[in-house]
Amino acid sequence: ESNLRAYSRVYPTVFDKAINARQIDENGKEYIDFFAGAGVLNFGHNNERMTKAVIEYIQSNGVTHSLDMSTTAKRTFMETFVDVVMKPRNMPHVMQFVGPTGTNAVEAAMKLARRVTGRQTVVAFHHAFHGMTLGSLAATANEYFRGASGVPLNHVEHQPFGCEKTCQGCELGCGKASLDALRARYADSSSGLEKPAAFMLEVIQAEGGVNVADKQWLKEIESLAKDLGALFIVDEIQVGMGRTGSFFSFDDYDIDPDIICMAKGLGGMGTPLAMNLVKPEHDQQWSPGEHTGTFRGQSISFVAGTEALNYFKDDALMKEVARKTGMMTEMLTELASMDGIQIRGKGMIQGIDIGDGALAKQVVANCFESGLLLGACGTGGRVIKLIPPLTIEDVDLTEGMNIVINAVREAKGTL
Ligand code: PLP
Repeated sequence: ESNLRAYSRVYPTVFDKAINARQIDENGKEYIDFFAGAGVLNFGHNNERMTKAVIEYIQSNGVTHSLDMSTTAKRTFMETFVDVVMKPRNMPHVMQFVGPTGTNAVEAAMKLARRVTGRQTVVAFHHAFHGMTLGSLAATANEYFRGASGVPLNHVEHQPFGCEKTCQGCELGCGKASLDALRARYADSSSGLEKPAAFMLEVIQAEGGVNVADKQWLKEIESLAKDLGALFIVDEIQVGMGRTGSFFSFDDYDIDPDIICMAKGLGGMGTPLAMNLVKPEHDQQWSPGEHTGTFRGQSISFVAGTEALNYFKDDALMKEVARKTGMMTEMLTELASMDGIQIRGKGMIQGIDIGDGALAKQVVANCFESGLLLGACGTGGRVIKLIPPLTIEDVDLTEGMNIVINAVREAKGTL
């Protein structure tokens, strides 16, 4: 395997089986999964509702591959999405299926914003993560990833993100403080700043260090975008699909994005699927097949994804997420009070910022030894990210939390 491989270095074993929040390696060692495929497996590994539906679909000779032709599997997914997500929110958006990765959704969103406005610049934010293909990589902030591009990453500028909590040690300046200046620069016709095609952001920057956007700041960015005639794009790829306690991470933020990028958990059980929700007046600017792709909507993902959507037909799962968020928050209280540690998050994405990438790496390695899978994120990898499946059993959640809390205390020399 290529030198590029990454997670197999962090988790040096060979996995064989997986069920809900547990992964089992070929030696029979069990690991609790607080990584969940980087936000893909919100409904756990091999979710029984999904495996059953997929097996039945395959055994009935349901169409597996269809490019973007119409299929019964796609229709059922789309109808369920409309009923469960769009109608209750009165959303006018259309569903644009793209190649099955998050980065492809972001590429399509950026292309469309440029088309609609006739402008080039997309405003993204410090610590943003939007993917690895050239358009989205230009919007991704991390130097390590950007360095691999081989060509200049143009037509995106990064502005300070407006965090709910100012991150410890962050010297970039908070977006809340610089918002008025940004607005003034756009208002001044001699500022030299070109009006952008779009403002694009994650409501919770997951890879960027679990930075939760301040509600008021987010609304003001949205209104700045509208005032400037730019599109407002929200990237829900990692934190959507119930992660924060409601379907969208911004359900309680009172915003109305022009484009919402979705992927990861959308396919339900870990098979890929990505789509953009696009306001119809913008969608009209596409010509048929202009942003094409061989795997635009896969039937297996539509079938499993429909089962994922069924979880939102009532509030049972979201009530569970609220309860488990309470468990996580309570268990993290002790760490939160320790010097040099900051806890940030919303719902079942929580970050433990320990302020030191090398130390966080050690914590991740120790957790792995103790049977817990998790990842580090943020500048220099200093934040330990907790994103267990939403369906995790209480015993696994408690055991996993104990492992990571002990590993952090040990690393900080307080054990
Ligand atoms: N956007 C966000 C917020 C992400 O977290 C990711 C992946 O982690 C992406 C985009 C890119 O998705 P993919 O890796 O499927 O291309």
